[in-house]
Amino acid sequence: MLADGFDLKPSKTPKSANEREAILKGSLGFGRLFTEHMVTIRYANGGWKTGELVPYGPITLDPAASVLHYGQAIFEGFKAYRQPDGSIATFRPEANGKRFAASARRLAMPELPVELFVAASDVLLRHEAEWVPSGAGESLYLRPLMIATEAALGVKPAREYSFLLFGSPSGDYFPQGVKPISLWLCTDYVRAAPGGTGEAKCAGNYAASLVAQQKAIDEGCVQVIWLDAVERKWIEEMGGMNLFFVYKDGAGHKLVTPQLTGTLLAGVTRDSLLKLGADLGYGIEERMISVQDWEQGLKDGSLVEVFACGTAAVITPVGEVKFDGGKWAINGGEFGPHARKLRESLLAIQYGQSPDQHGWMHRVP
Ligand SMILES: *Cc1c(COP(=O)(O)O)cnc(C)c1O
Repeated sequence: MLADGFDLKPSKTPKSANEREAILKGSLGFGRLFTEHMVTIRYANGGWKTGELVPYGPITLDPAASVLHYGQAIFEGFKAYRQPDGSIATFRPEANGKRFAASARRLAMPELPVELFVAASDVLLRHEAEWVPSGAGESLYLRPLMIATEAALGVKPAREYSFLLFGSPSGDYFPQGVKPISLWLCTDYVRAAPGGTGEAKCAGNYAASLVAQQKAIDEGCVQVIWLDAVERKWIEEMGGMNLFFVYKDGAGHKLVTPQLTGTLLAGVTRDSLLKLGADLGYGIEERMISVQDWEQGLKDGSLVEVFACGTAAVITPVGEVKFDGGKWAINGGEFGPHARKLRESLLAIQYGQSPDQHGWMHRVP
């Protein structure tokens, strides 16, 4: 059946309401459970085909599919939240759609029109509405991706692609909940270099980060802090989140975040916090921040909190930084009042509990 431009081919063996509720009542974790349907849109002969809503399940790929060899693969992540009136709204889906198109351009992949990106999430959510959990801190995490499917071993941009979108009912990103995390300051590996793919949300960036991530875990940390590739001096971001520094500023405080140099991933949460921070009366600054600035700010007491932000975990306080030969504690390793206030303010908008002054929430029609 064709509806809203999508061919609907739903599951013939849907789960019962009881089965679904039993799953949603358990501990959700992050990215372990998936809903019953997904959206697929194929690209071939220079254009996007009619999208389909199909049962969630494995996909088949030709062993020569170029994504498996040359890595043309991009993804996104955004969330759908249950609203107080029972309806469902996604947070800034157009921003993710635009970034998805920008990532596609960088990897010489075809751009999916932003309206189609948003329509795909709307059609999925209309069918999976009951899968959007309603517990505190819970949401349906949406994962769009695009891969090159053309079977051809020549190194060139593929001519065939698949866009896929599925949902994962999720709770806390870090299994320990919102507790200050310990970060490893990585000086031997880099995530992104000038002219590289750091600005694109592509699978390869993550593949290249995992060995450093493993090192961080071995050192008792949960994530890596990445430095710039050239001077190994400037703070860029965390494994999959952007960083914010809270400084004393006269009688108030200011939020400082590393400026976008082309090697950082421009987070939608980062952008939202810059706007929300200004609304809340914080000074706002995007600039270069060095490892030395960080250490100095902790020493002289001007730097009072550091936190990481991203869609999956929203805001996570940074309690400690470790590196070869030492460590620093931040805010006594505690979840500070600024990170808490910003986190609660953003969540209140996302869950429809406070006014959406910036028009960030997209009601699923
Ligand atoms: C996705 C991502 C972020 C955070 O982006 P959001 O849009 O806020 O979720 C930050 N850094 C990297 C490397 C990422 O991949």
